[in-house]
Amino acid sequence: MYQKEKQEILDVALKLDKYELIALSGGNVSMRLPDGNILITPSGMIYDEMVADDILLVDRAGNVLEGGRSKSVDTVALCYIYAHMMTVGAVIHTHQPYATGLGLVYDQIDCDLTTIANATKGHVHVAPFSSAASQDMGEKVVQYIGDATAVVLRNHGVVAVGKDLHEALYSAVYLEEGAKTLYIAHSVGGQMAKMTPEQVQEAVEVFKRYGQKKIE
Ligand SMILES: [Zn+2]
Repeated sequence: MYQKEKQEILDVALKLDKYELIALSGGNVSMRLPDGNILITPSGMIYDEMVADDILLVDRAGNVLEGGRSKSVDTVALCYIYAHMMTVGAVIHTHQPYATGLGLVYDQIDCDLTTIANATKGHVHVAPFSSAASQDMGEKVVQYIGDATAVVLRNHGVVAVGKDLHEALYSAVYLEEGAKTLYIAHSVGGQMAKMTPEQVQEAVEVFKRYGQKKIE
């Protein structure tokens, strides 16, 4: 069942690999189905060796309904996110180095780039430490993500969400590109050119009007 959706998850996972947001088997990609069940990548499998049938179908409590692999270790956290963020249709978890690295030093990745505003809808908060593969990880996401579509998990990685996989992918990839640019700016030193709240809001709105661009 859900072959098309499973392939979509796999395609997104391979894009994350291509853009160097994940390596080997790190992170996970998941999607909520109309009946509330969830499709999720398996634990510990290398993405470019994965096929659509390796994706698992779990219920909203994380019980496996279909699939022969072990489910992602973060399933408990993901189920918590889906249960508490009803507008979220897809979740991407990565260990992307630039956003995660900034989160080791700062409490927030400031929205000082129009691309970050477009993709994450504003400042990206950094949640305090939580253990991987715990419900606490999901609780921290729900508590700290605010109105943005991404949150950094301190000492761990990033969780990006969206109404669908495309939106979550956009958030994760462009957050990383933005974090890389901010890293360069911080490294150069000097005065950071901050965006005003009005400029941030305008960038978010402009993007809504223009619709989503397709990532290839
Ligand atoms: Zn992780």
